[in-house]
Amino acid sequence: MNLTFCTHCGTKHTQNNYPKKCNNCESESFQNPIPVIVLLVPVAGEGVLIQKRNIEPAKGKYALISGYMDKGETPEQTATREAFEECGVQVKNIRHCGFKVSKSQNLLILMECDPVNKEDIKFSPNAEVSDISFLNKIEELAFEAHSEFIKQYFNAKKIDHKTMAGW
Ligand SMILES: [Zn+2]
Repeated sequence: MNLTFCTHCGTKHTQNNYPKKCNNCESESFQNPIPVIVLLVPVAGEGVLIQKRNIEPAKGKYALISGYMDKGETPEQTATREAFEECGVQVKNIRHCGFKVSKSQNLLILMECDPVNKEDIKFSPNAEVSDISFLNKIEELAFEAHSEFIKQYFNAKKIDHKTMAGW
């Protein structure tokens, strides 16, 4: 998103580079990355929970659970809310796995949680997610950063389709 108007007084900006200095009030308007939570949910004996996106960008493609933080939320609370809203699953013991910057220059906060059981996932198709599935080997997902996260996760845990049954 390009900021057209001063975020302090509403005067139209005349310059293109950030930070944009306002001709009227002289304050600067910044453009900062937006934090996005990406949650990896292991499913016992199945793999990693992935969801088919029902919204753009990448509608119809599979990705990890992800979403924007609401004001007042911690990253853990966002992850818990998104997992329940999008996939109908209650997650526990959320841990941080690191950060990535997405192609759209947002800050991705990577998280994982304790494995859940397949029968505890109460999914029904909704506005954001049309289907869910399980990934038990490294595959390309809708977003490059999600693919990299899966790759790191599987490599770190030395998981492949042969050992997945032992989860
Ligand atoms: Zn201004």
